[in-house]
Parts: sequence; structure tokens; C-alpha cells
Amino acid sequence: MALIVQKFGGTSVGDVDRIKAVADHVARTKKHGNDVVVVVSAMGKTTDELIHLANEVSHSLPGRELDMLLTSGERISMSLLSMALADLGISAVSFTGSQAGIITDTDHTRAKILEIHPDRLLQAIREGSVPVVAGFQGMSTTKDITTLGRGGSDTTAVALAAALKADICEIYTDVSGVFTADPRVVSAAHRINEISYDEMLELAASGGRVLALRSVEFAKNHHVSLHVRSSFTWEPGTWVREENEEMEQAVVSAISHDVSEVKVTITGVPDRPGIAARIFREIADVGVNVDMIVQNTSTEGLTDISFTVPKVDMASTIRVSNEVAREIGARDVYADPDIARVSLVGAGMKTNPGVTAKMFETLANEGINIEMISTSAIRISCVVREDAIERAVQTLHEAFEL
Ligand code: ADP
Ligand code: ASP
Ligand code: MG
Repeated sequence: MALIVQKFGGTSVGDVDRIKAVADHVARTKKHGNDVVVVVSAMGKTTDELIHLANEVSHSLPGRELDMLLTSGERISMSLLSMALADLGISAVSFTGSQAGIITDTDHTRAKILEIHPDRLLQAIREGSVPVVAGFQGMSTTKDITTLGRGGSDTTAVALAAALKADICEIYTDVSGVFTADPRVVSAAHRINEISYDEMLELAASGGRVLALRSVEFAKNHHVSLHVRSSFTWEPGTWVREENEEMEQAVVSAISHDVSEVKVTITGVPDRPGIAARIFREIADVGVNVDMIVQNTSTEGLTDISFTVPKVDMASTIRVSNEVAREIGARDVYADPDIARVSLVGAGMKTNPGVTAKMFETLANEGINIEMISTSAIRISCVVREDAIERAVQTLHEAFEL
């Protein structure tokens, strides 16, 4: 008998029929003699709609209240699924994140899980019930309700799998696994059967939203095997696990893209030691994650610094950048939201020179200009114009014969 955590994303519980189909699947898993813990996302586009609603009534969007609002989405699906399970003769008990013992820090809208006290879940399992946990949420150390950032139900599932020492964590979604590129953009993309944590981390960090980045970090750190699969076809999907010898080391495993960032440029920055440190310290202190950074060569002691940040953090980044620019005597600050990032990810890149050159050549042949570049041992990313991103992904997918 295994303990299986099954997470169902928004589309998977998007309407009444989907909820019933999920209940059927959970019931079947349970009847095969497994213990099951379910994690659910909000139905369909509920979270987007709640955010829209919040924006209609408020400019300031107090984090505590926004979190209180957003967590209601997952409450709807957890209770409906539990009711559907009851109708199938399965005893199911719904739990909010807080009831499930998920304790987070106090950083509203992007809280981090600090610890989990799953006593109530364990008790429910012992009693033969299926706990159905609301994803994406927890309770802070000061007892306020928090959310874990967009896509955070993945993180709930993996964190619970680690805390409960589950045998498998299954992530059910609307595609049949992790693909060589977003199947919505590249019709020729195909499913990868097995991928290492490190490659999946790079993919998740560079826009492949099939798994939330934090969930992959958690899985890697706690050795949780993930099985990403479809709740529509139920066929076997992609295993995300420790790198091993049998795993194919493709030079390029997948291509990801990201349109969620904005490029911020500070011009006329005095080129002196400590200035860059000062700029990025101030930005970090308001909780913004800077991704790519480019500094031009300086002329007459002045330089331009460009960097990318999430679009949602644009306003706070511009505000802080303007303050620092004034203090250090920089000329100007401006933001360019019409950018996108395309990335190649592959463990085999470490030992195969020439991938970068081929990527640049492929983009050049398509007439796509590269504005920024960053690399890791197993990833190369280029920033291009947003309106060229789909072409960039498609042409690279073809060039690298994925
Ligand atoms: P869920 O609501 O189930 O969490 P998401 O919308 O968060 O689902 O993630 C699934 C989506 O991720 C897919 O519909 C697909 O468009 C997108 N996606 C992006 N990159 C990839 C990739 N490399 N492989 C599979 N899906 C991807
Ligand atoms: N409902 C949340 C979101 O839309 C969490 C999730 O789906 O994972 O981001
Ligand atoms: Mg998701």
C-alpha cells in the first residue's frame, strides 16, 4: 500500500464534470488500496477573477486582505470535491492550508512554507479518510492567512508529500506531462518521459509554468519524486527525479519562454565601486527578484544598467530605482514591458560547446534581435521583443531537432 499525494490544477477541477471525473480517479486510487491525500487549486480562472475583483475596489491591495480573498478560491474546490467523493462512498475531509498545519512566513502573496504540522491529515488517513487540502495557502507565524504565489498549489502538494513521506507526488494538469516546449506555442512539442530536478528547476525558473519553481526546489531538497500527468487522458506522464545514469543527457532537453518580465534601464549611472551594489540592495529590500542584468561599457565615467524583474513588481521597482537614481546622480529610469525571454535548457550543454553559437545563429537567421543574454551551466536565455517570442521558440525547437 502506497501513500500518494494527488494534486489537481485549475483546469482539472474547472467545472462540475471535471470535479466528478477527479473524484472518480481519487476513488479508484483509494479502492486499489492506497492512501491518498488530495491537493486542489481553485476552479478554472477563479484566482484571476478574484484578482480582477480586488483591482476593481482597490489600488493599494493590502496583502493580508488579498490573501484572505484569494484563498477562498481553493476552498470552493476542496469542499466540492469532498462532496463528490462522499457520493462515491469515499469518506473525504476538506482542510484549508491552515488546518492542514502549513505554517508560512509573513510575506503576503508570496509566502514561503516554514514548517508543516500534518497531524490532522495523518489522523484522517488513519481513520481511512481522504484529506482534501486547499492548495496555495497557509497560515503565517503571526496567524494570518497567506498565499504561496501564483501556481503555489504545486508547492503545497510537494511540501505535503515531503512532510508525509509519501511514496509519490502526482501533479495532474491539462497537458500530459513536461513537453520539449509549451505545447500551446509549438504544436510539434512532445512529452519528455523523464527529467532531472536541475533541468526542471531551470525550466520552471525560465517560464515553463507547468510546475511552480518552489515546488521543484522542494522536491529536489526533499527527494520527492514527481509524476506530472494529464487529468484528461490519465496516461503516464513525465517523471521528475534525481539525475541518474540511465537518464538521457540531451544537449538541449527543452525550450521555455517567459513573457512575465519587464526590462528596467537606469541611464547615466556613475561607474564607481559600490553603485551597482546600492541599486540592487534597495531593490532586493522591497522583495523584488532581479533576473537578468546587463551593464554597458562606460563612457566618460557613466554607464547604463538594464535588468529584468517580474511585471507584477514593475511599480515598486520603478519607484525604488527612481529614488536610488536621484541619490546617486543617475540620469533617468525607464521600463520596457514589451520584452520576452526564450531559454534553452539541457544537462548535456555542460559538455557540448557550440549550443550558444547555434542559438544566436538561429535567431539571427529569423531576423530576431537579441537584447540581453544570460547563462547557467545548463541554460542559455536571450531577451527578445515580445512580438517575436513565438517565432523564436518555434524556430529554435526546429533547429535543435527536439
Ligand atoms: P495547472 O492549472 O494544472 O497548474 P498550469 O496552467 O499552471 O496548470 O500549467 C500547465 C500549462 O503549462 C500547460 O497548459 C502549458 O500550456 C504550460 N506549459 C508551459 N511550458 C510547458 C512545458 N514545457 N511542458 C508542458 N506544459 C507547459
Ligand atoms: N489558484 C492559484 C493560482 O491560480 C494556485 C494554483 O493554481 O496553483 O495561481
Ligand atoms: Mg500551475
